[in-house]
Amino acid sequence: DNAQPKKPDWIRVKAPTSKAYFETHKIMREHKLVTVCEEAGCPNAGECWAQGHATMMIMGEICTRGCTFCNVATGKPQTLDVFEPARVADAVAKLGLNHVVITSVDRDDLEDGGAEHFAQTIRAIRRKTPDTTIEILTPDFLKCDDRALEVVVEARPDVFNHNLETVPHLYHEVRPGARYFHSLRLLQRVKELDPAMFTKSGLMVGLGEGRTDVLQVMDDMRSANIDFLTIGQYLQPTPKHHAVDRFVTPDEFKAYEKAAYGKGFLMVSATPLTRSSYHAGDDFVRLREA
Ligand code: SF4
Ligand code: SF4
Repeated sequence: DNAQPKKPDWIRVKAPTSKAYFETHKIMREHKLVTVCEEAGCPNAGECWAQGHATMMIMGEICTRGCTFCNVATGKPQTLDVFEPARVADAVAKLGLNHVVITSVDRDDLEDGGAEHFAQTIRAIRRKTPDTTIEILTPDFLKCDDRALEVVVEARPDVFNHNLETVPHLYHEVRPGARYFHSLRLLQRVKELDPAMFTKSGLMVGLGEGRTDVLQVMDDMRSANIDFLTIGQYLQPTPKHHAVDRFVTPDEFKAYEKAAYGKGFLMVSATPLTRSSYHAGDDFVRLREA
Protein backbone atom coordinates (compact mmCIF):
# COMPACT_ATOMS: atom_id res chain seq x y z
CA ASP A 1 0.00 0.00 0.00
CA ASN A 2 1.21 3.50 -0.63
CA ALA A 3 -0.29 5.21 2.40
CA GLN A 4 1.86 8.13 3.46
CA PRO A 5 3.24 8.40 6.98
CA LYS A 6 1.28 10.95 8.98
CA LYS A 7 2.77 14.42 9.27
CA PRO A 8 4.29 14.75 12.73
CA ASP A 9 3.61 17.81 14.85
CA TRP A 10 7.15 19.15 14.40
CA ILE A 11 6.22 19.95 10.78
CA ARG A 12 4.14 23.00 11.48
CA VAL A 13 3.28 25.56 8.89
CA LYS A 14 2.10 28.93 10.06
CA ALA A 15 -0.31 30.78 7.83
CA PRO A 16 1.10 34.09 6.66
CA THR A 17 -0.60 37.06 8.27
CA SER A 18 1.95 39.85 8.61
CA LYS A 19 1.81 43.09 6.69
CA ALA A 20 5.44 42.63 5.66
CA TYR A 21 4.54 39.27 4.07
CA PHE A 22 1.99 40.96 1.80
CA GLU A 23 4.45 43.74 1.01
CA THR A 24 6.98 41.15 -0.22
CA HIS A 25 4.22 39.53 -2.26
CA LYS A 26 3.40 42.87 -3.84
CA ILE A 27 7.02 43.62 -4.75
CA MET A 28 7.35 40.20 -6.43
CA ARG A 29 4.18 40.74 -8.48
CA GLU A 30 5.07 44.31 -9.45
CA HIS A 31 8.43 43.12 -10.75
CA LYS A 32 6.85 40.10 -12.47
CA LEU A 33 9.17 37.76 -10.59
CA VAL A 34 8.74 34.07 -9.88
CA THR A 35 9.75 32.74 -6.47
CA VAL A 36 10.74 29.23 -5.52
CA CYS A 37 8.98 29.88 -2.21
CA GLU A 38 5.64 29.83 -4.04
CA GLU A 39 6.52 27.30 -6.74
CA ALA A 40 7.65 24.79 -4.15
CA GLY A 41 4.91 25.67 -1.67
CA CYS A 42 7.65 26.18 0.90
CA PRO A 43 6.44 25.79 4.50
CA ASN A 44 8.63 28.71 5.62
CA ALA A 45 7.10 31.37 3.37
CA GLY A 46 5.15 33.04 6.19
CA GLU A 47 8.32 33.49 8.21
CA CYS A 48 10.77 34.31 5.39
CA TRP A 49 8.55 36.72 3.51
CA ALA A 50 7.74 38.63 6.67
CA GLN A 51 11.44 39.55 6.60
CA GLY A 52 11.50 40.21 2.87
CA HIS A 53 13.45 37.02 2.22
CA ALA A 54 12.08 35.63 -1.01
CA THR A 55 14.16 33.38 -3.23
CA MET A 56 13.70 34.51 -6.80
CA MET A 57 13.64 31.93 -9.57
CA ILE A 58 14.96 33.26 -12.87
CA MET A 59 14.63 32.03 -16.48
CA GLY A 60 10.94 31.17 -16.31
CA GLU A 61 8.55 28.83 -14.57
CA ILE A 62 9.01 25.82 -16.84
CA CYS A 63 11.88 23.41 -16.36
CA THR A 64 13.47 21.04 -18.88
CA ARG A 65 13.92 18.40 -16.14
CA GLY A 66 11.34 16.51 -14.15
CA CYS A 67 12.74 15.69 -10.74
CA THR A 68 10.18 13.57 -8.92
CA PHE A 69 10.26 15.65 -5.71
CA CYS A 70 9.79 18.99 -7.41
CA ASN A 71 6.60 20.94 -8.03
CA VAL A 72 7.94 23.07 -10.89
CA ALA A 73 6.28 22.30 -14.25
CA THR A 74 8.27 20.40 -16.89
CA GLY A 75 8.03 21.26 -20.56
CA LYS A 76 9.21 23.59 -23.25
CA PRO A 77 10.61 26.63 -21.45
CA GLN A 78 9.91 30.29 -22.19
CA THR A 79 12.26 32.58 -24.13
CA LEU A 80 14.75 34.32 -21.85
CA ASP A 81 13.62 37.75 -20.73
CA VAL A 82 16.55 40.14 -21.18
CA PHE A 83 14.96 42.62 -18.77
CA GLU A 84 14.71 40.12 -15.96
CA PRO A 85 18.17 40.78 -14.40
CA ALA A 86 17.30 44.47 -13.98
CA ARG A 87 13.91 43.64 -12.43
CA VAL A 88 15.57 41.25 -9.98
CA ALA A 89 18.06 43.97 -9.01
CA ASP A 90 15.23 46.48 -8.52
CA ALA A 91 13.31 44.06 -6.35
CA VAL A 92 16.39 43.34 -4.22
CA ALA A 93 16.81 47.10 -3.69
CA LYS A 94 13.11 47.54 -2.82
CA LEU A 95 13.21 44.66 -0.35
CA GLY A 96 16.35 46.16 1.19
CA LEU A 97 18.10 42.81 1.34
CA ASN A 98 21.53 42.31 2.92
CA HIS A 99 21.70 38.89 1.33
CA VAL A 100 19.80 37.52 -1.62
CA VAL A 101 19.36 33.99 -2.95
CA ILE A 102 18.76 33.57 -6.68
CA THR A 103 17.86 30.25 -8.24
CA SER A 104 16.54 29.05 -11.59
CA VAL A 105 14.88 26.26 -13.46
CA ASP A 106 17.09 23.94 -15.46
CA ARG A 107 17.59 25.12 -19.03
CA ASP A 108 18.93 22.18 -21.00
CA ASP A 109 17.52 23.89 -24.09
CA LEU A 110 20.12 26.69 -23.90
CA GLU A 111 23.65 26.09 -25.06
CA ASP A 112 25.14 27.69 -21.96
CA GLY A 113 22.42 26.37 -19.63
CA GLY A 114 21.56 29.97 -18.76
CA ALA A 115 25.05 30.77 -17.40
CA GLU A 116 25.21 34.20 -19.02
CA HIS A 117 21.75 35.11 -17.70
CA PHE A 118 22.86 34.15 -14.19
CA ALA A 119 26.01 36.26 -14.60
CA GLN A 120 23.99 39.24 -15.82
CA THR A 121 21.64 38.94 -12.86
CA ILE A 122 24.59 38.91 -10.44
CA ARG A 123 26.13 41.94 -12.13
CA ALA A 124 22.83 43.84 -12.14
CA ILE A 125 22.42 43.32 -8.38
CA ARG A 126 26.06 44.34 -7.74
CA ARG A 127 25.58 47.59 -9.66
CA LYS A 128 22.36 48.50 -7.89
CA THR A 129 23.10 47.36 -4.33
CA PRO A 130 26.85 46.71 -3.99
CA ASP A 131 26.56 45.82 -0.30
CA THR A 132 24.09 42.99 -0.81
CA THR A 133 25.77 39.59 -0.62
CA ILE A 134 24.65 37.25 -3.38
CA GLU A 135 24.00 33.54 -3.12
CA ILE A 136 23.14 31.59 -6.24
CA LEU A 137 21.56 28.16 -6.35
CA THR A 138 22.28 26.84 -9.83
CA PRO A 139 21.37 23.95 -12.09
CA ASP A 140 24.07 21.42 -12.90
CA PHE A 141 25.05 22.65 -16.42
CA LEU A 142 25.30 18.96 -17.33
CA LYS A 143 25.00 19.44 -21.08
CA CYS A 144 27.28 22.48 -21.34
CA ASP A 145 31.00 22.81 -21.91
CA ASP A 146 33.33 23.96 -19.11
CA ARG A 147 32.95 27.60 -20.06
CA ALA A 148 29.37 27.81 -18.69
CA LEU A 149 30.45 27.36 -15.10
CA GLU A 150 33.37 29.76 -15.55
CA VAL A 151 31.03 32.51 -16.77
CA VAL A 152 28.96 32.22 -13.59
CA VAL A 153 31.98 32.06 -11.26
CA GLU A 154 33.60 35.08 -12.98
CA ALA A 155 30.54 37.15 -12.02
CA ARG A 156 31.68 36.59 -8.40
CA PRO A 157 28.66 35.54 -6.37
CA ASP A 158 29.51 35.33 -2.64
CA VAL A 159 28.06 31.86 -2.20
CA PHE A 160 27.76 29.22 -4.92
CA ASN A 161 25.10 26.68 -4.01
CA HIS A 162 24.14 23.57 -5.93
CA ASN A 163 22.09 20.89 -4.23
CA LEU A 164 22.97 17.22 -4.42
CA GLU A 165 19.38 16.70 -3.13
CA THR A 166 19.69 13.01 -2.31
CA VAL A 167 22.05 10.07 -1.89
CA PRO A 168 23.55 8.37 -4.99
CA HIS A 169 21.38 5.25 -5.03
CA LEU A 170 18.18 7.30 -5.18
CA TYR A 171 19.27 9.46 -8.12
CA HIS A 172 17.56 7.40 -10.81
CA GLU A 173 14.25 7.68 -8.94
CA VAL A 174 14.47 11.18 -7.50
CA ARG A 175 16.71 13.17 -9.83
CA PRO A 176 16.58 11.45 -13.22
CA GLY A 177 18.59 13.41 -15.73
CA ALA A 178 21.15 14.45 -13.11
CA ARG A 179 24.39 12.67 -12.20
CA TYR A 180 25.68 12.53 -8.63
CA PHE A 181 29.37 12.78 -9.43
CA HIS A 182 28.81 15.49 -12.00
CA SER A 183 27.10 17.66 -9.37
CA LEU A 184 29.84 16.99 -6.84
CA ARG A 185 32.52 17.80 -9.39
CA LEU A 186 30.72 21.02 -10.33
CA LEU A 187 31.12 22.34 -6.78
CA GLN A 188 34.71 21.17 -6.62
CA ARG A 189 35.45 23.12 -9.81
CA VAL A 190 33.91 26.28 -8.35
CA LYS A 191 36.47 26.07 -5.53
CA GLU A 192 39.30 25.44 -7.97
CA LEU A 193 38.28 28.43 -10.09
CA ASP A 194 37.91 30.76 -7.11
CA PRO A 195 39.15 29.44 -3.76
CA ALA A 196 37.70 32.49 -1.97
CA MET A 197 34.15 31.68 -3.00
CA PHE A 198 31.99 29.82 -0.49
CA THR A 199 30.38 26.64 -1.79
CA LYS A 200 27.20 25.13 -0.43
CA SER A 201 25.04 22.10 -1.01
CA GLY A 202 21.96 20.47 0.41
CA LEU A 203 20.08 17.25 0.89
CA MET A 204 16.48 16.30 1.49
CA VAL A 205 15.96 13.37 3.85
CA GLY A 206 13.00 11.04 4.28
CA LEU A 207 13.16 9.87 0.65
CA GLY A 208 14.36 6.35 1.46
CA GLU A 209 18.01 6.95 2.32
CA GLY A 210 19.79 5.48 5.33
CA ARG A 211 21.90 7.28 7.91
CA THR A 212 25.17 5.84 6.61
CA ASP A 213 24.26 7.02 3.08
CA VAL A 214 23.90 10.57 4.40
CA LEU A 215 27.20 10.39 6.29
CA GLN A 216 28.90 9.15 3.10
CA VAL A 217 27.49 12.09 1.12
CA MET A 218 28.88 14.45 3.78
CA ASP A 219 32.32 12.88 3.29
CA ASP A 220 32.00 13.20 -0.49
CA MET A 221 31.04 16.86 -0.07
CA ARG A 222 33.99 17.58 2.18
CA SER A 223 36.35 15.87 -0.28
CA ALA A 224 35.04 18.40 -2.83
CA ASN A 225 35.73 21.19 -0.28
CA ILE A 226 32.08 22.18 0.12
CA ASP A 227 31.77 24.72 2.92
CA PHE A 228 28.09 24.88 3.88
CA LEU A 229 25.48 22.16 4.23
CA THR A 230 21.69 22.17 4.56
CA ILE A 231 19.57 19.12 5.38
CA GLY A 232 15.77 19.23 5.55
CA GLN A 233 12.79 16.90 5.58
CA TYR A 234 11.33 16.08 2.16
CA LEU A 235 7.63 16.93 1.92
CA GLN A 236 5.53 15.59 -0.93
CA PRO A 237 4.13 18.54 -2.92
CA THR A 238 1.23 16.53 -4.45
CA PRO A 239 0.22 12.84 -4.41
CA LYS A 240 1.80 12.47 -7.85
CA HIS A 241 5.26 13.24 -6.50
CA HIS A 242 7.77 10.91 -4.88
CA ALA A 243 6.33 9.46 -1.67
CA VAL A 244 7.66 10.40 1.76
CA ASP A 245 9.44 7.31 3.07
CA ARG A 246 9.56 8.56 6.65
CA PHE A 247 9.74 11.64 8.83
CA VAL A 248 13.21 12.04 10.26
CA THR A 249 13.00 13.09 13.92
CA PRO A 250 14.38 16.38 15.26
CA ASP A 251 16.94 14.38 17.29
CA GLU A 252 18.19 12.66 14.16
CA PHE A 253 18.57 16.06 12.52
CA LYS A 254 20.60 17.25 15.52
CA ALA A 255 22.84 14.22 15.17
CA TYR A 256 23.34 15.02 11.46
CA GLU A 257 24.26 18.58 12.36
CA LYS A 258 26.79 17.42 14.91
CA ALA A 259 28.32 14.89 12.52
CA ALA A 260 28.56 17.54 9.77
CA TYR A 261 30.40 20.02 11.99
CA GLY A 262 32.68 17.16 13.01
CA LYS A 263 33.53 16.61 9.35
CA GLY A 264 34.58 20.23 8.94
CA PHE A 265 31.65 22.08 7.34
CA LEU A 266 31.80 25.76 8.25
CA MET A 267 28.05 26.21 8.46
CA VAL A 268 25.34 23.59 8.85
CA SER A 269 21.59 23.85 9.02
CA ALA A 270 19.83 20.55 9.65
CA THR A 271 16.26 20.73 10.92
CA PRO A 272 12.96 19.35 9.60
CA LEU A 273 12.04 22.68 7.99
CA THR A 274 15.52 23.60 6.73
CA ARG A 275 15.49 24.53 3.07
CA SER A 276 18.41 25.52 0.93
CA SER A 277 17.63 29.21 1.36
CA TYR A 278 16.24 29.14 4.90
CA HIS A 279 17.99 31.78 7.05
CA ALA A 280 20.75 31.79 4.43
CA GLY A 281 21.45 35.49 5.02
CA ASP A 282 21.52 35.40 8.82
CA ASP A 283 23.84 32.41 8.80
CA PHE A 284 26.16 33.99 6.26
CA VAL A 285 26.39 37.31 8.09
CA ARG A 286 27.08 35.47 11.35
CA LEU A 287 29.89 33.54 9.69
CA ARG A 288 31.49 36.64 8.21
CA GLU A 289 31.41 38.43 11.53
CA ALA A 290 32.89 35.46 13.41
FE1 SF4 B 1 11.58 30.90 0.25
FE2 SF4 B 1 13.75 29.59 1.04
FE3 SF4 B 1 12.27 30.88 2.81
FE4 SF4 B 1 11.33 28.68 1.69
S1 SF4 B 1 13.11 28.81 3.04
S2 SF4 B 1 10.19 30.58 1.97
S3 SF4 B 1 12.17 28.84 -0.38
S4 SF4 B 1 13.40 31.83 1.14
FE1 SF4 C 1 12.73 21.20 -10.11
FE2 SF4 C 1 15.26 22.00 -10.39
FE3 SF4 C 1 14.57 19.45 -10.96
FE4 SF4 C 1 13.79 21.48 -12.52
S1 SF4 C 1 15.93 20.78 -12.16
S2 SF4 C 1 12.53 19.76 -11.84
S3 SF4 C 1 13.41 23.11 -11.03
S4 SF4 C 1 14.50 20.47 -8.93
